Amino acid sequence: MTAQILNGKQLAQQIRTELKQKISLTQASPSLSVIIVGNDPASEIYVRSKEKACNEVGIKVHTYKLAADISAAELNELIDLLNNSHDVNGILVQLPLPKHLSPQEILTRIKPEKDVDGFHPLNTGLVLQKQPSAFIPCTPKGILRLIHSVKGDLSGLNAVVIGRSHIVGLPVSHLLLNENCTVTIAHSKTKNLPDICQKADILIASVGKPEFITKDYIKPGAIIIDVGINRTQEGLKGDVKYGEAIEKASYITPVPGGVGPMTIAMLLENTYEAFLKQNRS
Ligand code: NAP
Repeated sequence: MTAQILNGKQLAQQIRTELKQKISLTQASPSLSVIIVGNDPASEIYVRSKEKACNEVGIKVHTYKLAADISAAELNELIDLLNNSHDVNGILVQLPLPKHLSPQEILTRIKPEKDVDGFHPLNTGLVLQKQPSAFIPCTPKGILRLIHSVKGDLSGLNAVVIGRSHIVGLPVSHLLLNENCTVTIAHSKTKNLPDICQKADILIASVGKPEFITKDYIKPGAIIIDVGINRTQEGLKGDVKYGEAIEKASYITPVPGGVGPMTIAMLLENTYEAFLKQNRS
């Protein structure tokens, strides 16, 4: 069996085109404020892609580039200002932050209704409770959208998520549980990982290790979602050994061009949703 490619780039483009159309019909433009602290080159690339995508669909975007040694008090002051501004619908703090800043403290400072990244504890709780008002974190939301593009009903499927980060692993596990999957969350202390993965109808690899998942981890016919973005000397690699996995899976996301573009599309969608909610009287 050769897997079909789950083309995130194409699906993301479709979502962006639809959003652009919807935004062109609104009286005002949705607006996103992005905060980046320090000079991490990867973060700068991500922020530039987000800015470009916003501009393309008609979302006003303003980036605040702050010095690496900014204090938590100064950063919180900016967040408060944006929280209280009627001209700002969404606020995003680009991660990672420099060591002296606590991401938990900073992300909790953002008003939940402007938390378009979905990292505020209130939004985490709302996702757990399956509340439609939740802002769902962008990468997990994009992953679910990709899976649904090829499979409607996920009820009863075995899903294995490798990784338990607050950004990817945990929220995607909750979303799959909400879809009635039987979910196993694996992590660095998990024993017999290949055996566990071999039972997965849906395998989400969010490990952060290049080509970690080989054919021995894959159940024939599984849907494989490769979240990993690993910069190696041979270029960008996912967490999955693509050449092997494609021979066993039914569907697989490539890297690049799979989950990455969907993450940005979901950020645009969340910003548009924030705009609609805030303008509802
Ligand atoms: P992370 O916070 O470093 O989490 C990695 C997870 O993998 C941890 O839960 C860790 O377990 C687990 N792990 C590490 N080694 C393992 C092993 N040998 N066996 C089983 N589990 C193991 O990373 P993240 O933020 O979730 O990101 C994961 C990957 O996705 C990275 O490559 C990142 O760049 C990428 N990413 C991509 C997007 C996108 O839009 N495409 C978005 C976000 C992240 P412990 O908890 O026990 O340490």
